[in-house]
Amino acid sequence: MNFRIYNTMTRQKELFKPIKEGEAGIYTCGPTVYHYAHIGNLRTYISEDAFVRTLKFFGWKVKRVMNITDVGHLTSDADTGEDKMEVGAKREGKTAWEVAKFYTEAFFKDYKALNCLPPDVLCPATDYVQEMIDMALAIEKKGYTYNIPGDGVYFDTAKLPDYGKLVGKAHVEGIQAGARVEANSAKRHPADFAVWKFAAPGEQRQMEWDSPWGKGFPGWHMECSAMAVKHLGETIDIHWGGEDHVAIHHTNEIAQSETASGKTFSNYWMHARFLVTGDEGKMSKSAGDFLTVSSLPQRGYDPLAYRYYCMLTHYRKQLEFTWEGVEAAARGLDGLRALAQKVKAEAGTAPHSLDREAQYFKDFCAALADDVNMPAAMAVLWETLKDASLPAPQRLAFAAAAEEVTALDLFKSAEAGALAPELAALIKEREAARKAKDWKRSDELRKELADKGVLIEDAAGGTKWKLARG
Ligand code: AMP
Ligand code: ZN
Repeated sequence: MNFRIYNTMTRQKELFKPIKEGEAGIYTCGPTVYHYAHIGNLRTYISEDAFVRTLKFFGWKVKRVMNITDVGHLTSDADTGEDKMEVGAKREGKTAWEVAKFYTEAFFKDYKALNCLPPDVLCPATDYVQEMIDMALAIEKKGYTYNIPGDGVYFDTAKLPDYGKLVGKAHVEGIQAGARVEANSAKRHPADFAVWKFAAPGEQRQMEWDSPWGKGFPGWHMECSAMAVKHLGETIDIHWGGEDHVAIHHTNEIAQSETASGKTFSNYWMHARFLVTGDEGKMSKSAGDFLTVSSLPQRGYDPLAYRYYCMLTHYRKQLEFTWEGVEAAARGLDGLRALAQKVKAEAGTAPHSLDREAQYFKDFCAALADDVNMPAAMAVLWETLKDASLPAPQRLAFAAAAEEVTALDLFKSAEAGALAPELAALIKEREAARKAKDWKRSDELRKELADKGVLIEDAAGGTKWKLARG
């Protein structure tokens, strides 16, 4: 399959050619686990999942590595400010380790609810500090670093002629010219960044390690450089992340990895554009006021309606979040599932196998092969399922194949998909209260369910529920 993907490095779509025939090694920047992931973060993970599923659909063997940033991500990109993990620990009165564990688990709960495939390798940064020290030492040995006493070991970006090639030279020059008020004036250039940070004098950090430069912790960019090399080698096929990582995080990963190895770090760079909210602009995890995946069932929506919502916009287009959009996507997904089930019923027990020569299948593959054009692929799926001139068993086989990539639980009934387990438990509890003639409790639970978007009707045959939606 000629799979073309947009490479941020070359600013064009290119034919995907893996290093090893038939295999693809992918590194994806994982979550910073000091708070819940917001639905914007998960837009990026849904885009990555659709990409991984597409590769597998086309027959590639995929090894996907994802890190967990559980140390070193500072509140400011200028290598100043507090470590986000320590901020989370203070906020919650827990240890940084407890915070990391809690939010890692919360992240994967959301991730799973969106049918995202688990990564093949999951690496928490705190397990790889030695590898990070080794890479920082290699860079230091080559003469690309300098120390700022009481602060850290910094990468000297001016020594690297192609520094900033991912974002463009003009942008880097802009950073240097524009940084009149530089937060860290001891840096030689505003673009320089820490490969190792010293624990500040008098600061009592929960997470710190011994190093050749004294006690401290790794620079955030160093995490991904060291873990990618450890699990995928010095040159990897594809590196993924959100668009915010282009200018700083990925630019600095490239500087470190390529200085240490002398080789190209990643052959392809892919970035998902942001999910934005109308009034507030981009979602901000640090601001603490954001929507999470659990906001969806609370409003009566299947989390997969959000997956579908994301899939209706190409991953390289900005997506503006609205509840009206989620509502429309939820209706759309209900319709698609109803259609898939109708086709299944029509097909009955007739044998069905996928017709790979059929035009609709070719169109579906062509859409995916064009930089994962998921909106176009979804349009082909809709049209094909609706096309009564095609035999139902053929349409059924196609829907089942498409499900491998779309992962929308097409054969799940609309009702079954919509109710979160905690809501189902509340309904059960209310039924028990009614049986016990505890009317007060039963009313309280009815109100609680209504607040969460579930309307209760007590009919002769028992309690029924429906979603209030929105
Ligand atoms: P973080 O947990 O902040 O390290 O981010 C995890 C991932 O989410 C990264 O790949 C970010 O680039 C991505 N990301 C952050 N904000 C958004 C957003 N509003 N829309 C899409 N992706 C985002
Ligand atoms: Zn990263």
